[in-house]
Amino acid sequence: MSLASRLHRIAVVGCGSSGLAVAAFLHQAGHEVTLFERFTTPQPLGAGLLLQPTGLAVLARLGLDRAICERGAPIRNLYGQTHKGTVIFDLSYRLLHPDLFGLGVHRASLFDVLYQNVVRLGIPIHSGHTMITTRLHADKTRSLSNDAGEDFGPFDLVIDASGRHSKLCESAADVRKDTPYPYGALWGVCRDPGQAFARDYLLQRYEAARVMIGTLAIGKKPGGTDDHVAFFWSLRTRDYQDWQAQGLEAWKDRVIRYWPEMAPFVAQLERPEDLTFAEYGDKSLHRWARDGLVFIGDAGHAMSPQLGQGANLGLIDAWTLAQTIGSHTDLPEALDAYNRARLGHLRFYQTASQWLTPFFQSDSTLAAMVRDLLFGPMCKMPYLRSEMVRTLAGMKTGLFSQLEPADWHPRHQTNSRIETS
Ligand SMILES: Cc1cc2nc3c(=O)[nH]c(=O)nc-3n(C[C@H](O)[C@H](O)[C@H](O)COP(=O)(O)OP(=O)(O)OC[C@H]3O[C@@H](n4cnc5c(N)ncnc54)[C@H](O)[C@@H]3O)c2cc1C
Repeated sequence: MSLASRLHRIAVVGCGSSGLAVAAFLHQAGHEVTLFERFTTPQPLGAGLLLQPTGLAVLARLGLDRAICERGAPIRNLYGQTHKGTVIFDLSYRLLHPDLFGLGVHRASLFDVLYQNVVRLGIPIHSGHTMITTRLHADKTRSLSNDAGEDFGPFDLVIDASGRHSKLCESAADVRKDTPYPYGALWGVCRDPGQAFARDYLLQRYEAARVMIGTLAIGKKPGGTDDHVAFFWSLRTRDYQDWQAQGLEAWKDRVIRYWPEMAPFVAQLERPEDLTFAEYGDKSLHRWARDGLVFIGDAGHAMSPQLGQGANLGLIDAWTLAQTIGSHTDLPEALDAYNRARLGHLRFYQTASQWLTPFFQSDSTLAAMVRDLLFGPMCKMPYLRSEMVRTLAGMKTGLFSQLEPADWHPRHQTNSRIETS
Protein backbone atom coordinates (compact mmCIF):
# COMPACT_ATOMS: atom_id res chain seq x y z
CA MET A 1 0.00 0.00 0.00
CA SER A 2 1.32 3.53 -0.78
CA LEU A 3 2.16 5.75 2.21
CA ALA A 4 -0.34 8.27 0.88
CA SER A 5 -3.37 6.01 1.08
CA ARG A 6 -6.00 6.19 3.85
CA LEU A 7 -7.70 3.30 5.61
CA HIS A 8 -11.39 2.82 4.90
CA ARG A 9 -14.44 0.98 6.22
CA ILE A 10 -15.40 -1.30 3.35
CA ALA A 11 -18.40 -3.60 2.83
CA VAL A 12 -18.13 -6.43 0.30
CA VAL A 13 -21.40 -8.05 -0.79
CA GLY A 14 -21.06 -11.65 -2.00
CA CYS A 15 -18.77 -14.55 -1.09
CA GLY A 16 -18.06 -15.67 -4.67
CA SER A 17 -14.51 -15.68 -6.03
CA SER A 18 -14.55 -11.91 -6.74
CA GLY A 19 -15.83 -10.94 -3.28
CA LEU A 20 -13.54 -13.30 -1.35
CA ALA A 21 -10.49 -12.11 -3.32
CA VAL A 22 -11.17 -8.38 -2.97
CA ALA A 23 -11.92 -8.76 0.75
CA ALA A 24 -8.56 -10.49 1.28
CA PHE A 25 -6.57 -7.90 -0.72
CA LEU A 26 -8.16 -4.93 1.05
CA HIS A 27 -7.87 -6.50 4.50
CA GLN A 28 -4.19 -7.16 3.88
CA ALA A 29 -3.80 -3.50 2.93
CA GLY A 30 -5.11 -2.56 6.40
CA HIS A 31 -8.72 -1.59 5.60
CA GLU A 32 -11.62 -2.58 7.85
CA VAL A 33 -13.47 -5.06 5.64
CA THR A 34 -16.82 -6.76 6.29
CA LEU A 35 -18.29 -9.44 4.00
CA PHE A 36 -22.03 -10.01 3.52
CA GLU A 37 -23.48 -13.17 1.97
CA ARG A 38 -27.08 -14.21 1.31
CA PHE A 39 -26.53 -17.91 2.08
CA THR A 40 -26.51 -18.94 5.73
CA THR A 41 -23.51 -21.13 4.95
CA PRO A 42 -21.46 -19.59 2.13
CA GLN A 43 -21.15 -22.15 -0.67
CA PRO A 44 -20.13 -22.48 -4.31
CA LEU A 45 -22.65 -23.15 -7.08
CA GLY A 46 -21.92 -25.06 -10.28
CA ALA A 47 -19.41 -27.56 -11.60
CA GLY A 48 -15.98 -26.58 -12.85
CA LEU A 49 -14.22 -23.69 -14.46
CA LEU A 50 -10.99 -22.82 -16.22
CA LEU A 51 -8.62 -20.44 -14.46
CA GLN A 52 -6.42 -18.58 -16.90
CA PRO A 53 -2.80 -17.52 -16.32
CA THR A 54 -4.16 -14.03 -15.49
CA GLY A 55 -6.44 -15.37 -12.75
CA LEU A 56 -3.65 -17.63 -11.46
CA ALA A 57 -1.28 -14.65 -11.25
CA VAL A 58 -3.85 -12.78 -9.11
CA LEU A 59 -4.22 -15.84 -6.86
CA ALA A 60 -0.42 -15.90 -6.61
CA ARG A 61 -0.58 -12.34 -5.18
CA LEU A 62 -2.77 -13.79 -2.43
CA GLY A 63 -0.31 -16.67 -1.97
CA LEU A 64 -3.00 -19.13 -3.07
CA ASP A 65 -2.00 -20.27 -6.57
CA ARG A 66 0.02 -23.27 -5.36
CA ALA A 67 -2.84 -24.45 -3.13
CA ILE A 68 -5.30 -24.26 -6.00
CA CYS A 69 -2.87 -25.89 -8.45
CA GLU A 70 -2.55 -28.86 -6.07
CA ARG A 71 -6.29 -29.47 -6.37
CA GLY A 72 -6.92 -28.59 -10.02
CA ALA A 73 -5.78 -30.07 -13.33
CA PRO A 74 -3.36 -28.21 -15.61
CA ILE A 75 -4.87 -27.55 -19.03
CA ARG A 76 -2.39 -26.96 -21.82
CA ASN A 77 -4.55 -27.42 -24.91
CA LEU A 78 -7.91 -26.47 -26.30
CA TYR A 79 -9.20 -28.82 -28.98
CA GLY A 80 -12.59 -28.60 -30.67
CA GLN A 81 -13.94 -30.50 -33.66
CA THR A 82 -17.28 -31.06 -35.35
CA HIS A 83 -18.90 -34.48 -35.07
CA LYS A 84 -17.71 -35.08 -38.65
CA GLY A 85 -14.09 -34.45 -37.66
CA THR A 86 -13.48 -30.89 -38.94
CA VAL A 87 -11.00 -29.27 -36.56
CA ILE A 88 -12.23 -25.89 -35.29
CA PHE A 89 -9.67 -25.21 -32.55
CA ASP A 90 -6.29 -26.70 -31.86
CA LEU A 91 -4.51 -24.28 -29.57
CA SER A 92 -1.88 -24.64 -26.88
CA TYR A 93 -0.83 -22.28 -24.08
CA ARG A 94 2.72 -23.51 -24.76
CA LEU A 95 2.79 -21.17 -27.74
CA LEU A 96 3.22 -18.31 -25.25
CA HIS A 97 5.61 -20.07 -22.90
CA PRO A 98 6.66 -23.72 -22.50
CA ASP A 99 5.47 -23.75 -18.86
CA LEU A 100 2.23 -21.79 -19.32
CA PHE A 101 -1.10 -23.46 -18.53
CA GLY A 102 -4.68 -22.80 -17.55
CA LEU A 103 -6.09 -24.68 -14.57
CA GLY A 104 -9.31 -26.68 -14.63
CA VAL A 105 -10.78 -26.55 -11.12
CA HIS A 106 -13.83 -27.78 -9.31
CA ARG A 107 -15.73 -24.69 -8.19
CA ALA A 108 -15.88 -26.10 -4.68
CA SER A 109 -12.07 -26.24 -4.60
CA LEU A 110 -11.64 -22.64 -5.74
CA PHE A 111 -14.26 -21.53 -3.24
CA ASP A 112 -12.67 -23.55 -0.43
CA VAL A 113 -9.20 -22.10 -0.99
CA LEU A 114 -10.48 -18.49 -1.12
CA TYR A 115 -12.96 -18.93 1.73
CA GLN A 116 -10.46 -20.60 4.10
CA ASN A 117 -8.07 -17.73 3.38
CA VAL A 118 -10.69 -15.15 4.40
CA VAL A 119 -11.47 -17.14 7.56
CA ARG A 120 -7.75 -17.38 8.36
CA LEU A 121 -7.38 -13.61 7.94
CA GLY A 122 -10.23 -13.12 10.42
CA ILE A 123 -12.41 -11.05 8.07
CA PRO A 124 -15.94 -10.87 9.54
CA ILE A 125 -18.61 -12.58 7.40
CA HIS A 126 -22.27 -11.73 7.95
CA SER A 127 -24.04 -14.65 6.31
CA GLY A 128 -27.78 -15.06 5.77
CA HIS A 129 -28.18 -11.43 4.65
CA THR A 130 -29.62 -10.73 1.21
CA MET A 131 -28.58 -7.16 0.49
CA ILE A 132 -31.01 -5.27 -1.67
CA THR A 133 -30.19 -1.56 -1.57
CA THR A 134 -27.49 0.92 -0.69
CA ARG A 135 -27.98 4.57 0.28
CA LEU A 136 -25.50 7.42 -0.25
CA HIS A 137 -25.37 9.90 2.66
CA ALA A 138 -24.52 13.61 2.60
CA ASP A 139 -21.06 12.89 4.09
CA LYS A 140 -20.38 10.54 1.10
CA THR A 141 -20.58 7.38 3.22
CA ARG A 142 -22.97 4.56 2.31
CA SER A 143 -25.24 2.22 4.17
CA LEU A 144 -26.53 -1.16 3.05
CA SER A 145 -29.99 -2.64 3.66
CA ASN A 146 -31.06 -6.26 3.59
CA ASP A 147 -34.42 -7.73 2.61
CA ALA A 148 -35.50 -7.81 6.27
CA GLY A 149 -35.19 -4.01 6.41
CA GLU A 150 -32.04 -4.00 8.56
CA ASP A 151 -29.41 -1.31 7.89
CA PHE A 152 -25.63 -1.75 8.05
CA GLY A 153 -22.90 0.86 7.91
CA PRO A 154 -21.78 3.54 7.46
CA PHE A 155 -19.10 2.44 5.00
CA ASP A 156 -16.67 4.57 2.99
CA LEU A 157 -16.97 2.07 0.16
CA VAL A 158 -19.45 -0.66 -0.82
CA ILE A 159 -18.17 -3.31 -3.22
CA ASP A 160 -20.90 -5.29 -4.90
CA ALA A 161 -19.63 -8.76 -5.85
CA SER A 162 -23.02 -10.44 -5.70
CA GLY A 163 -23.02 -11.86 -9.22
CA ARG A 164 -25.05 -11.45 -12.37
CA HIS A 165 -28.42 -11.06 -10.64
CA SER A 166 -27.20 -8.41 -8.20
CA LYS A 167 -30.02 -6.59 -6.48
CA LEU A 168 -27.80 -3.59 -5.74
CA CYS A 169 -27.05 -3.34 -9.43
CA GLU A 170 -30.78 -3.22 -10.22
CA SER A 171 -31.23 -0.28 -7.89
CA ALA A 172 -27.96 1.66 -8.13
CA ALA A 173 -25.94 0.90 -11.28
CA ASP A 174 -25.57 2.68 -14.59
CA VAL A 175 -26.60 -0.41 -16.62
CA ARG A 176 -25.69 -0.31 -20.30
CA LYS A 177 -27.00 -3.74 -21.24
CA ASP A 178 -28.42 -6.79 -19.45
CA THR A 179 -29.64 -9.42 -21.92
CA PRO A 180 -30.04 -13.18 -21.50
CA TYR A 181 -28.63 -15.42 -24.24
CA PRO A 182 -31.08 -17.85 -25.88
CA TYR A 183 -28.68 -20.73 -25.10
CA GLY A 184 -27.31 -21.87 -21.74
CA ALA A 185 -25.81 -25.23 -20.79
CA LEU A 186 -26.27 -28.27 -18.63
CA TRP A 187 -23.26 -28.86 -16.41
CA GLY A 188 -22.22 -31.88 -14.39
CA VAL A 189 -19.16 -33.44 -12.80
CA CYS A 190 -18.01 -37.02 -13.53
CA ARG A 191 -15.18 -39.13 -12.20
CA ASP A 192 -12.22 -39.66 -14.53
CA PRO A 193 -9.84 -41.91 -12.57
CA GLY A 194 -6.21 -41.03 -13.25
CA GLN A 195 -7.41 -38.28 -15.61
CA ALA A 196 -7.31 -40.93 -18.31
CA PHE A 197 -9.68 -39.16 -20.69
CA ALA A 198 -9.15 -35.43 -20.59
CA ARG A 199 -5.62 -34.94 -19.26
CA ASP A 200 -4.23 -31.53 -20.27
CA TYR A 201 -7.25 -30.74 -22.48
CA LEU A 202 -10.38 -28.68 -22.76
CA LEU A 203 -12.24 -30.71 -25.40
CA GLN A 204 -15.32 -29.67 -27.36
CA ARG A 205 -17.47 -31.27 -30.05
CA TYR A 206 -20.06 -29.50 -32.22
CA GLU A 207 -22.81 -30.08 -34.70
CA ALA A 208 -23.64 -26.79 -36.40
CA ALA A 209 -24.03 -24.25 -33.56
CA ARG A 210 -27.00 -26.10 -32.07
CA VAL A 211 -25.02 -28.87 -30.40
CA MET A 212 -21.95 -28.26 -28.31
CA ILE A 213 -20.54 -30.81 -25.87
CA GLY A 214 -17.49 -30.15 -23.75
CA THR A 215 -15.27 -31.65 -21.10
CA LEU A 216 -12.70 -30.05 -18.90
CA ALA A 217 -10.35 -31.86 -16.52
CA ILE A 218 -10.88 -30.26 -13.09
CA GLY A 219 -8.86 -32.35 -10.65
CA LYS A 220 -10.18 -33.14 -7.19
CA LYS A 221 -13.12 -32.06 -5.07
CA PRO A 222 -12.21 -30.69 -1.61
CA GLY A 223 -11.23 -33.62 0.60
CA GLY A 224 -11.42 -36.09 -2.33
CA THR A 225 -8.76 -38.16 -4.06
CA ASP A 226 -10.49 -38.99 -7.38
CA ASP A 227 -9.85 -36.93 -10.50
CA HIS A 228 -12.91 -35.43 -12.16
CA VAL A 229 -14.02 -33.85 -15.41
CA ALA A 230 -16.65 -31.16 -15.80
CA PHE A 231 -19.05 -32.05 -18.58
CA PHE A 232 -21.36 -29.64 -20.42
CA TRP A 233 -24.10 -29.84 -23.00
CA SER A 234 -25.37 -26.68 -24.67
CA LEU A 235 -29.14 -26.21 -24.51
CA ARG A 236 -31.63 -23.52 -25.47
CA THR A 237 -33.12 -22.09 -22.28
CA ARG A 238 -36.62 -22.52 -23.66
CA ASP A 239 -35.93 -26.27 -24.29
CA TYR A 240 -34.88 -27.07 -20.73
CA GLN A 241 -38.32 -28.21 -19.59
CA ASP A 242 -38.67 -30.51 -22.64
CA TRP A 243 -35.24 -31.95 -21.84
CA GLN A 244 -36.38 -32.71 -18.30
CA ALA A 245 -39.60 -34.29 -19.57
CA GLN A 246 -37.81 -36.51 -22.11
CA GLY A 247 -35.75 -38.30 -19.46
CA LEU A 248 -32.06 -39.01 -19.38
CA GLU A 249 -31.77 -42.17 -21.47
CA ALA A 250 -32.74 -40.65 -24.85
CA TRP A 251 -30.39 -37.76 -24.20
CA LYS A 252 -27.50 -40.07 -23.22
CA ASP A 253 -27.93 -41.91 -26.54
CA ARG A 254 -27.65 -38.59 -28.36
CA VAL A 255 -24.46 -37.65 -26.53
CA ILE A 256 -22.89 -41.02 -27.31
CA ARG A 257 -23.87 -40.76 -30.99
CA TYR A 258 -21.95 -37.50 -31.22
CA TRP A 259 -19.09 -38.62 -29.03
CA PRO A 260 -18.78 -42.37 -28.28
CA GLU A 261 -15.92 -41.87 -25.78
CA MET A 262 -18.39 -40.01 -23.54
CA ALA A 263 -20.21 -43.26 -22.69
CA PRO A 264 -18.45 -43.92 -19.34
CA PHE A 265 -19.14 -40.36 -18.23
CA VAL A 266 -22.81 -40.07 -19.10
CA ALA A 267 -23.29 -43.51 -17.50
CA GLN A 268 -22.42 -41.80 -14.19
CA LEU A 269 -25.35 -39.40 -14.53
CA GLU A 270 -28.33 -41.15 -13.03
CA ARG A 271 -30.96 -38.44 -12.55
CA PRO A 272 -31.68 -35.14 -14.32
CA GLU A 273 -30.67 -33.41 -11.06
CA ASP A 274 -27.10 -34.68 -11.59
CA LEU A 275 -26.87 -31.91 -14.17
CA THR A 276 -27.38 -28.21 -13.42
CA PHE A 277 -28.78 -25.86 -16.02
CA ALA A 278 -26.90 -22.54 -16.20
CA GLU A 279 -28.41 -19.60 -18.05
CA TYR A 280 -26.01 -17.24 -19.75
CA GLY A 281 -26.36 -13.52 -20.17
CA ASP A 282 -24.54 -10.42 -21.20
CA LYS A 283 -24.33 -7.57 -18.77
CA SER A 284 -22.37 -4.36 -19.01
CA LEU A 285 -22.34 -1.07 -17.13
CA HIS A 286 -21.43 2.41 -18.37
CA ARG A 287 -18.97 2.58 -15.47
CA TRP A 288 -18.25 0.21 -12.67
CA ALA A 289 -17.34 2.60 -9.87
CA ARG A 290 -18.71 5.89 -8.55
CA ASP A 291 -19.95 7.58 -5.37
CA GLY A 292 -18.47 5.02 -2.98
CA LEU A 293 -19.93 2.03 -4.85
CA VAL A 294 -18.10 -0.46 -7.12
CA PHE A 295 -19.49 -3.41 -9.08
CA ILE A 296 -16.94 -6.17 -9.61
CA GLY A 297 -17.08 -9.65 -11.14
CA ASP A 298 -20.35 -10.78 -12.70
CA ALA A 299 -22.24 -7.99 -10.91
CA GLY A 300 -20.47 -5.58 -13.26
CA HIS A 301 -19.85 -7.62 -16.40
CA ALA A 302 -21.44 -11.05 -16.73
CA MET A 303 -20.83 -12.71 -20.09
CA SER A 304 -21.16 -16.05 -21.84
CA PRO A 305 -18.46 -18.47 -20.62
CA GLN A 306 -17.41 -19.21 -24.23
CA LEU A 307 -13.97 -17.72 -23.58
CA GLY A 308 -13.66 -19.04 -20.02
CA GLN A 309 -12.93 -15.62 -18.52
CA GLY A 310 -15.63 -14.67 -15.98
CA ALA A 311 -13.97 -15.78 -12.75
CA ASN A 312 -10.60 -14.53 -13.99
CA LEU A 313 -11.96 -11.09 -14.80
CA GLY A 314 -13.49 -10.90 -11.31
CA LEU A 315 -10.14 -11.81 -9.72
CA ILE A 316 -8.39 -9.14 -11.80
CA ASP A 317 -11.06 -6.60 -10.78
CA ALA A 318 -10.29 -7.46 -7.15
CA TRP A 319 -6.54 -6.97 -7.55
CA THR A 320 -6.88 -3.79 -9.63
CA LEU A 321 -9.33 -2.22 -7.18
CA ALA A 322 -7.02 -2.92 -4.24
CA GLN A 323 -4.12 -1.43 -6.23
CA THR A 324 -5.94 1.75 -7.24
CA ILE A 325 -7.23 2.33 -3.70
CA GLY A 326 -3.73 1.75 -2.37
CA SER A 327 -2.16 4.30 -4.71
CA HIS A 328 -4.59 7.23 -4.19
CA THR A 329 -5.22 9.41 -1.12
CA ASP A 330 -8.66 10.32 -2.42
CA LEU A 331 -11.28 7.57 -2.77
CA PRO A 332 -13.24 9.19 -5.65
CA GLU A 333 -9.96 9.57 -7.56
CA ALA A 334 -9.16 5.91 -6.86
CA LEU A 335 -12.55 4.87 -8.23
CA ASP A 336 -12.06 6.96 -11.38
CA ALA A 337 -8.65 5.33 -11.80
CA TYR A 338 -10.28 1.91 -11.39
CA ASN A 339 -12.79 2.65 -14.18
CA ARG A 340 -9.94 3.68 -16.47
CA ALA A 341 -7.74 0.74 -15.49
CA ARG A 342 -10.39 -1.90 -16.25
CA LEU A 343 -11.93 -0.34 -19.38
CA GLY A 344 -9.84 -1.89 -22.19
CA HIS A 345 -9.63 -5.39 -20.75
CA LEU A 346 -13.30 -5.70 -19.82
CA ARG A 347 -14.60 -4.18 -23.06
CA PHE A 348 -12.36 -6.49 -25.11
CA TYR A 349 -13.70 -9.64 -23.46
CA GLN A 350 -17.30 -8.45 -23.45
CA THR A 351 -17.11 -7.73 -27.16
CA ALA A 352 -15.19 -10.92 -27.98
CA SER A 353 -17.62 -13.16 -26.10
CA GLN A 354 -20.65 -11.46 -27.73
CA TRP A 355 -19.03 -11.86 -31.12
CA LEU A 356 -17.94 -15.47 -30.62
CA THR A 357 -20.98 -16.99 -28.89
CA PRO A 358 -23.31 -17.22 -31.97
CA PHE A 359 -20.67 -19.35 -33.74
CA PHE A 360 -21.03 -21.98 -30.99
CA GLN A 361 -24.45 -21.52 -29.44
CA SER A 362 -27.14 -20.33 -31.81
CA ASP A 363 -29.63 -21.51 -34.43
CA SER A 364 -27.61 -19.89 -37.23
CA THR A 365 -26.55 -22.38 -39.92
CA LEU A 366 -24.55 -19.63 -41.62
CA ALA A 367 -22.51 -18.84 -38.49
CA ALA A 368 -21.68 -22.55 -38.09
CA MET A 369 -20.66 -22.83 -41.77
CA VAL A 370 -18.39 -19.80 -41.50
CA ARG A 371 -16.87 -21.26 -38.32
CA ASP A 372 -16.28 -24.67 -39.93
CA LEU A 373 -14.63 -23.06 -42.95
CA LEU A 374 -12.47 -20.43 -41.25
CA PHE A 375 -11.62 -21.25 -37.65
CA GLY A 376 -9.41 -24.30 -38.32
CA PRO A 377 -7.27 -22.53 -40.97
CA MET A 378 -7.08 -19.41 -38.72
CA CYS A 379 -5.59 -21.57 -35.95
CA LYS A 380 -2.74 -22.42 -38.31
CA MET A 381 -1.77 -18.83 -39.20
CA PRO A 382 1.08 -17.88 -36.85
CA TYR A 383 -0.09 -14.34 -35.97
CA LEU A 384 -3.75 -15.23 -35.53
CA ARG A 385 -2.85 -18.40 -33.67
CA SER A 386 -0.84 -16.54 -31.02
CA GLU A 387 -3.53 -13.84 -30.77
CA MET A 388 -6.11 -16.58 -30.18
CA VAL A 389 -4.01 -18.12 -27.41
CA ARG A 390 -3.47 -14.68 -25.81
CA THR A 391 -7.22 -14.13 -25.94
CA LEU A 392 -7.80 -17.50 -24.29
CA ALA A 393 -5.11 -16.78 -21.68
CA GLY A 394 -7.05 -13.64 -20.63
CA MET A 395 -4.31 -11.24 -21.71
CA LYS A 396 -5.95 -9.04 -24.35
CA THR A 397 -6.81 -5.42 -23.54
CA GLY A 398 -7.62 -4.39 -27.13
CA LEU A 399 -7.14 -5.64 -30.67
CA PHE A 400 -3.45 -4.69 -30.63
CA SER A 401 -2.71 -4.50 -26.92
CA GLN A 402 -2.30 -6.93 -24.07
CA LEU A 403 -1.38 -7.25 -20.43
CA GLU A 404 1.28 -9.51 -18.98
CA PRO A 405 0.35 -11.79 -16.04
CA ALA A 406 3.99 -11.74 -14.88
CA ASP A 407 3.45 -8.07 -13.93
CA TRP A 408 1.36 -9.48 -11.07
CA HIS A 409 3.46 -12.55 -10.37
CA PRO A 410 6.57 -13.92 -12.11
CA ARG A 411 5.36 -17.53 -11.76
CA HIS A 412 2.85 -16.88 -14.54
CA GLN A 413 5.25 -15.45 -17.11
CA THR A 414 4.56 -15.54 -20.85
CA ASN A 415 6.99 -14.85 -23.68
CA SER A 416 4.98 -11.89 -24.93
CA ARG A 417 7.53 -9.28 -23.97
CA ILE A 418 10.33 -11.23 -25.54
CA GLU A 419 8.33 -11.66 -28.75
CA THR A 420 7.26 -8.04 -29.02
CA SER A 421 10.52 -6.32 -27.95
C1 LIG B 1 -21.74 -22.72 -16.84
C2 LIG B 1 -20.68 -21.71 -16.57
C3 LIG B 1 -19.35 -21.98 -16.88
C4 LIG B 1 -18.36 -21.05 -16.61
N1 LIG B 1 -17.07 -21.33 -16.91
C5 LIG B 1 -16.10 -20.44 -16.61
C6 LIG B 1 -14.73 -20.72 -16.86
O1 LIG B 1 -14.36 -21.77 -17.39
N2 LIG B 1 -13.80 -19.79 -16.48
C7 LIG B 1 -14.16 -18.63 -15.87
O2 LIG B 1 -13.28 -17.83 -15.54
N3 LIG B 1 -15.45 -18.33 -15.65
C8 LIG B 1 -16.42 -19.20 -15.99
N4 LIG B 1 -17.73 -18.90 -15.74
C9 LIG B 1 -18.05 -17.61 -15.16
C10 LIG B 1 -17.81 -17.60 -13.66
O3 LIG B 1 -18.49 -18.69 -13.05
C11 LIG B 1 -18.32 -16.30 -13.08
O4 LIG B 1 -17.84 -15.24 -13.85
C12 LIG B 1 -17.82 -16.16 -11.65
O5 LIG B 1 -18.27 -17.22 -10.85
C13 LIG B 1 -18.32 -14.84 -11.08
O6 LIG B 1 -17.88 -14.75 -9.77
P1 LIG B 1 -18.48 -13.62 -8.84
O7 LIG B 1 -17.78 -13.79 -7.54
O8 LIG B 1 -18.40 -12.30 -9.52
O9 LIG B 1 -20.04 -13.97 -8.70
P2 LIG B 1 -20.73 -15.28 -8.13
O10 LIG B 1 -19.87 -16.46 -8.26
O11 LIG B 1 -22.08 -15.30 -8.76
O12 LIG B 1 -20.87 -15.00 -6.57
C14 LIG B 1 -21.82 -14.10 -6.05
C15 LIG B 1 -21.97 -14.32 -4.55
O13 LIG B 1 -22.87 -13.33 -4.04
C16 LIG B 1 -23.88 -13.93 -3.28
N5 LIG B 1 -25.08 -13.07 -3.40
C17 LIG B 1 -25.88 -12.97 -4.47
N6 LIG B 1 -26.83 -12.04 -4.25
C18 LIG B 1 -26.62 -11.57 -3.00
C19 LIG B 1 -27.27 -10.59 -2.22
N7 LIG B 1 -28.32 -9.89 -2.67
N8 LIG B 1 -26.80 -10.32 -0.96
C20 LIG B 1 -25.71 -11.01 -0.49
N9 LIG B 1 -25.06 -11.96 -1.22
C21 LIG B 1 -25.50 -12.22 -2.45
C22 LIG B 1 -24.06 -15.31 -3.90
O14 LIG B 1 -24.68 -16.21 -3.00
C23 LIG B 1 -22.61 -15.67 -4.22
O15 LIG B 1 -21.96 -16.22 -3.10
C24 LIG B 1 -18.73 -19.82 -16.03
C25 LIG B 1 -20.06 -19.54 -15.72
C26 LIG B 1 -21.05 -20.48 -15.99
C27 LIG B 1 -22.48 -20.14 -15.66
